[in-house]
Amino acid sequence: MSFLLAACGDNQVTPPDPPDAACEPANPPAADCSDACFDDRGPEPRMELAVADLALPTPPDGSTPVRVSLFYTVAPQEGAWTRAEVADRMRQIVANTDTILAQCAMHVEVEVAQVIALPARLLDIQGNEEGSFGGHPPPGTPDPDLFDYEQNERLTAESRELFEYGKAHSSKNTIDAYTIDHIVYYANQMLDEAGGLSYPANIYHHVDDYPYRNAVLLVPEYGACGDLPGVPGTRTLAHEIGHMLLNTGGHAGAFNNLMVNGTVLTDAQCATMAANLDALFGEAEVPDPGPPS
Ligand SMILES: [Zn+2]
Repeated sequence: MSFLLAACGDNQVTPPDPPDAACEPANPPAADCSDACFDDRGPEPRMELAVADLALPTPPDGSTPVRVSLFYTVAPQEGAWTRAEVADRMRQIVANTDTILAQCAMHVEVEVAQVIALPARLLDIQGNEEGSFGGHPPPGTPDPDLFDYEQNERLTAESRELFEYGKAHSSKNTIDAYTIDHIVYYANQMLDEAGGLSYPANIYHHVDDYPYRNAVLLVPEYGACGDLPGVPGTRTLAHEIGHMLLNTGGHAGAFNNLMVNGTVLTDAQCATMAANLDALFGEAEVPDPGPPS
């Protein structure tokens, strides 16, 4: 089912330490790219791009920026890809998302753009804890957002490990967007898969998960181990930003709505997104926004 769920400075790149000389990566690599040479290692930077490298168009006058950091992730094996290819994919993601956010006079403002290598255990993420509702309360729940708030879900160890990397390289209130090869998560306590995942503050409000919860996951097509993945679905990042700025795991609305199966945002949604952009992603820290009113 679920294409998409919800819930849920100093940018210098330090070259990773060389692999242990005694460790020879398997050639050809395992089908899932797992390799004992890499499996104990965490996220490692591979390339940093200046925002100017992305050659993004100038946003329309009066458009409100939504700050996003883009992290393309690759398996640790050597892959053949170029700075221009990374820039091209990131530019497409921003263009696709801006086309939708323009309905609310908003656009993506890229803060950080990196490619990072992840061991296989982090490329295939379990998005929430076993048995979670994941922003999908039982049918008939009278106040789904209050139900979700009261669940007080937490980041998993692997999602937190990934998000800690991003928050070491981006502002606390920026939404860090990561590509990922595969996501499993629990929706209404049942295991499922997702094409994207978000961590809205209404659900992931525990103070210890701030600011790491300011993150979304996107699932494009991954090729051979180490290759640069493709571009996520055209509405994927916009949909996940929708969850973050609407501050809900819900998928209510008309069939053509961004939060259901299309790209439309209503005036009421735009008003809520603008208010939450200030309230939850402004300059002030927001460790716990409190229950929905
Ligand atoms: Zn969703």
